[in-house]
Order: sequence, then C-alpha cells, then structure tokens
Amino acid sequence: MTMIVAIDGLAASGKSSLAQAIAKKCSLFYVDSGSFYRFITYRLLCEGISPDQHDAICSFLPMVRFHYRTARHFWKGRDVSEALRSSAIDELVSGVARIGLVRKKINRTVRHLVKHKPAVVEGRDIGTVVFPKADLKIFLLASEEARIARRNQQRQEWGHSAERECVKKNIRLRDQIDSEREIAPLVPATDAVIIDTSQLTLEETVARGCKLVQECWKKHG
Ligand code: C5P
Repeated sequence: MTMIVAIDGLAASGKSSLAQAIAKKCSLFYVDSGSFYRFITYRLLCEGISPDQHDAICSFLPMVRFHYRTARHFWKGRDVSEALRSSAIDELVSGVARIGLVRKKINRTVRHLVKHKPAVVEGRDIGTVVFPKADLKIFLLASEEARIARRNQQRQEWGHSAERECVKKNIRLRDQIDSEREIAPLVPATDAVIIDTSQLTLEETVARGCKLVQECWKKHG
C-alpha cells in the first residue's frame, strides 16, 4: 500500500482545510470521503427517496456511479460540488451515512481511488475503518463555538445562507448521529495524533500537520 494520511474529526473542525493544504504542500492525492456521502444524498433527494426508506436506497445504490475528478463531483456532465453543500444535504447526510450498504460502497470507492497513489483522505472513519493501517492518523477537535464560526464563514464562501442557529443545530445533530451510530462511529483511532484547533489559525494547524507528514515520510523511507 502507498502512503496514506488519514484525517478524521468533528463537523467543521477544519479537516478539509488541513487535508487540502497537506495535499498541496506534500504533493499527495486528496480525497474528501464526506463528499461521497453528500453525493449519494444528493442523488436520493433528486429521486425523492428519503433517508429512512432503506429498501429503496439499497435498490437505488447500484445505479449511483461516482464521477470524481480534481476533488469535484460531476453528474450528467455537470459539476454538482457546490450543490452538495446545501442545507438540505447537511440535514439528511448523516442519516444516509448510517446505512451499512452506503458505507460499503463508499469505502470500496475510496480504497480504489488511492490504490496506487500516496494520498490524504479525510472523513469520520478513515483511520479506524477505511485505512486502519494508515501511515499517519490525525484527529481534529475544536470547540463548538469555533466550529460554528468557521462553518458560517465557509457557507458564505460557498454562496449558501449562513443562519447561525441553523448551523449550530446542524453541527450538533450531525456530531451526535455520527458519534452514536452503530457502524463506524466517529471516534479517534487509538494511534491518532489529536490536534485541538480551537485556538489555532489555519496556518498553525497546517504547519503542525505538515510537520507530522514530513516525520512520517522519513519513517516511511
Ligand atoms: O465531511 P462532511 O461534513 O462533508 O461529511 C458529511 C457527512 O458524511 C458527515 O456528517 C457524516 O455523516 C458522513 N461521513 C461519514 N464518514 C466519512 C465521511 C463523512 O459518515 N468518512
């Protein structure tokens, strides 16, 4: 297996920013596993299937094909990456992510994507389930306040509305569902390096992350 850096953590703890910066600085392939859960949720929404219709979801899943290029998702030739960040998807995605068959399909896809490439992969279960033997595992924490502020800012950058109370409710709910679900709950791997980013700037977080990657490269040979 090539070198894998796994970055897991709570919603809006800074995983994407850190993973993308590490990918750029260290020339690693970048995979955002959460975007695959969002893409399936988007397709289900378009089909009018809700997250509690498990049988309908399982029948529909084989029809879902991923077209993931340069960290963006395409459907019918259209880039739908921005749409995956809508509040409708925010609300439904954790319900969809509880379904075992959905997780199986995404895990298979993610493992296949990085088969021959050194990569940084972000998610909720990357270091515990998808790549338990990852060369480096980072788990990000941040206070709820810091996470709400960051998600608000991101939503504005993505062109979506950012109502503080809605963002707070969604972050709390997703953390709860993701942490309490039966399959692959959100927990740090026992061998993960835990970074609390509440008081860190993005640059400081990236500097710590890159230092860990460089140490890992040395060990990896
Ligand atoms: O990372 P992001 O917030 O875009 O992920 C959206 C949702 O996808 C998470 O709240 C979680 O329910 C699910 N997810 C997951 N396992 C992953 C990545 C994301 O269950 N590896």
